[in-house]
Amino acid sequence: MTALEKKEFKQIIEKQIGTLSREIEEIRSAIYPNKGEGTSDKVAHISFKQEQSIHFQRYDEAGKRLNRLKHAYMKIDTPEYGICQECEEEIPLERLKLLPESQYCVSCMNELGL
Ligand SMILES: [Zn+2]
Repeated sequence: MTALEKKEFKQIIEKQIGTLSREIEEIRSAIYPNKGEGTSDKVAHISFKQEQSIHFQRYDEAGKRLNRLKHAYMKIDTPEYGICQECEEEIPLERLKLLPESQYCVSCMNELGL
């Protein structure tokens, strides 16, 4: 990966971290609604609980992805960035653009069942 490409990937990761952070804030405010917005209606309460569990799941996943992106961001200046940890081949740039936190190429991912 050239220095210019690394610079480009830094920007891509920064942007994704920004988007994800906003998403996490949104989910957080959905999980913890302001007082007064709650309802005493029993049916509404059940669907609220169901929504909560979906939100928690999304919140958890978004948090994990944020960590992976931050990790990738710190590694971007090292020679390991963009190299598959399994076969040590370069991960295609097109794939990295979509998932800059990728640590494996597609065939290794499939083989490892990730
Ligand atoms: Zn690989």
